[in-house]
Amino acid sequence: MKTDICIVGGGPAGLACALALTQSGREVTVIDCAVPPIDKACGEGLMPDSLAALGALGVRLPTVGSELRGIRFFDDSHTVSADFPHGAGRALRRVVLHELLVEQAERVGVRMLWGVKNVDTRRGRVSYNGGHIDAPLIVGADGQKSCVREEAELGEVCSERRRYGFRMHYGCAPWSRYVEIYWATHFQIYVTPVANDQVCVALISTDPHLRLEAALKMIPELAERLRGFPATTPEKGSLSLSRKLRRVYGNGYVLLGDASGSVDAITGEGMCLAFSQSIALVRALDGGDLRLYQRSHREIAARPRRMAALMLMLDRNQTLRRKAMAALAAHPQIFSSLLAAHVGYKPLGEVFSWRLLSFGLGVLRA
Ligand SMILES: Cc1cc2nc3c(=O)[nH]c(=O)nc-3n(C[C@H](O)[C@H](O)[C@H](O)COP(=O)(O)OP(=O)(O)OC[C@H]3O[C@@H](n4cnc5c(N)ncnc54)[C@H](O)[C@@H]3O)c2cc1C
Repeated sequence: MKTDICIVGGGPAGLACALALTQSGREVTVIDCAVPPIDKACGEGLMPDSLAALGALGVRLPTVGSELRGIRFFDDSHTVSADFPHGAGRALRRVVLHELLVEQAERVGVRMLWGVKNVDTRRGRVSYNGGHIDAPLIVGADGQKSCVREEAELGEVCSERRRYGFRMHYGCAPWSRYVEIYWATHFQIYVTPVANDQVCVALISTDPHLRLEAALKMIPELAERLRGFPATTPEKGSLSLSRKLRRVYGNGYVLLGDASGSVDAITGEGMCLAFSQSIALVRALDGGDLRLYQRSHREIAARPRRMAALMLMLDRNQTLRRKAMAALAAHPQIFSSLLAAHVGYKPLGEVFSWRLLSFGLGVLRA
C-alpha cells in the first residue's frame, strides 16, 4: 500500500492531523492498534480555543455534550470563577468526540486501519501484522508512550515532570456549567459536565497511589454532591506529563500530539495543542520546510506551558495557593484576565504585566 503520509495513532491528534492533511489535498492513511470508539482518561473539556482549532478542521460540535461557561476554582476557604471571554467551551465524553472525528475523517476520504498489531516504522516504511505501507513521511501520533518517537530517535527530552491522572463518570445531572477545579494538598479534582445526566470527575496528583475515592473523602463538599449517584464508568488512569522534547521531526518522521510532548492535564489544553499542531504541520509542509513546524510547535506550547507553570506552583506551595486564592477572590478581574490569556484571547504579555506583578507582590505580602 502506498500513501503520501502515514499517521500512526488515530486518537484526537492523529485524526485531527489526518483532517488537516486531507484538506490540503494529501492522501493520508491512519493506523491504530485499538478499535473505535477509543476511550482515554481525560477531563473531557474543550476550551474555546480548542473548539476554534477543531472548527478550522471542519469539525463542529454545536449540540453534543454540554456547553462550558468558564472555570471555577475552589479551595477550603475560597471560590473564584470567571467566564470565558469570547464564546463557550464544550464538554463531551471522549468516546463521543472520537466517534465524531472518525465520522468526519471517513467523510473526507481518510483511509483508516483499526486494530492493527505490531506496528513497526523502521526502515522508512510502516509494517504491521498483515501488511506494510510505503510513505515518504510518517507521523507519530501514538500518544505518551510513542513507539514511533523511539524508532525515529526523537526521544531526547529537555524537561519532564509527571503527575498521575484518574477519571470516573457519575450518573448525575450537572449542577454547574463551569469546569470546577477543587484544590487540595498536592492534588486537584476537576468536574466537567459532559452530558445532561453525567459528570466527569478527574483527579490529578503527585501521588501515584492516590485514587479518586480516597481523594474525594478529602473534599467533603464535592463528595456530598456526588453522594448516592452511581459511577457509570470504572476508574481509568493515565500519566499527566509536562514533557518537552528537543526535536519533533527528522529522518522522515514528524511527531504530533502527546507523542511530541505535552502539558500538565490541569491546563485542559492537551487536545488543543494537537489540533493546532496539525494546522501548523500543513503550513510547514506547504512551505516545504519542517523547521517551520518545529518553530510553530514550540510557539503553540508556550502559552499553556506558562499557565501550567503558574498552576503547578500553586500545587507545590500550599501557603502560596491559599494566599493566591484569597487574593483572586478579592480581585476576580485578575482571574478573568488570566483565563482570557489561558484560552489565547489576550496576549500573555498583556496579562503578565506590572498589574500582575503588583498583584503577585500583594499576594506574597498578605
Ligand atoms: C487526567 C487527564 C485529564 C485530561 N484532561 C484534558 C482535558 O480536559 N482537555 C484536553 O484537551 N486534554 C486533556 N488531557 C490531555 C489529552 O487527554 C491528551 O492531550 C490527548 O489525549 C492527546 O491525544 P493523542 O491523540 O496525542 O494521544 P492519545 O489520545 O493517547 O491517542 C494515541 C493513539 O495512538 C494509538 N497507539 C498507541 N500506540 C500505538 C502503536 N504502537 N501502534 C498503533 N497505534 C498506537 C492509541 O490506540 C491511541 O488511539 C487530559 C489528560 C489526562 C491524563
